[in-house]
Amino acid sequence: KEFGEVSLKDIDQLANSSFPLCMRHLFEKLREEHHLKHGGRMQLGLFLKGVGLKLEDALAFWRAEFSQKVGSERFDKEYAYSMRHNYGKEGKRTDYTPYSCQKIVSSTPGVGDHHGCPYRHFSEENLRAALGKMGVGGRTMDDVMDKVRNRHYQLACTLTFEAIHASSCDAGINHPNQYFSDSQKVLKT
Ligand code: SF4
Repeated sequence: KEFGEVSLKDIDQLANSSFPLCMRHLFEKLREEHHLKHGGRMQLGLFLKGVGLKLEDALAFWRAEFSQKVGSERFDKEYAYSMRHNYGKEGKRTDYTPYSCQKIVSSTPGVGDHHGCPYRHFSEENLRAALGKMGVGGRTMDDVMDKVRNRHYQLACTLTFEAIHASSCDAGINHPNQYFSDSQKVLKT
């Protein structure tokens, strides 16, 4: 099985070491604001399912944040259903698949949304700041911004991956969950 199980206690450390920028951003905003709008909940929620967070842990994770903002009662009433739904436990029991880069890049986040691909949807200033926080700088920063200007967002993400892992990623990044598993492979060897 490609993705192992991930436990809740490791999630912050994993976010820091192996989440692509789109998911880091959602993760940070959730921790900061104790809330994400629908697009963000879907993008991050399905990604977390893909990395191997089990439903019970996912519910505990979202509940811990949302209850600080809307209260746990409201979380259980309004949000828990759709989280279970994402895991195929409610409604049509469709097993929802985590979003690909292509889908995320072509999404259209509105005001107050934090989903989308930062390489495409951030201002240059915000992107530079976010990349700086990941440890990207100097020549790599210029190369990444160059790809962004030419609208090669996934190549920009690939360059970021390669820089912070000091390892090549020949296939290129085409899925946030691929970024995660490739990162874990590099870090565990
Ligand atoms: Fe996320 Fe893909 Fe954009 Fe990288 S290229 S930040 S993995 S959507």
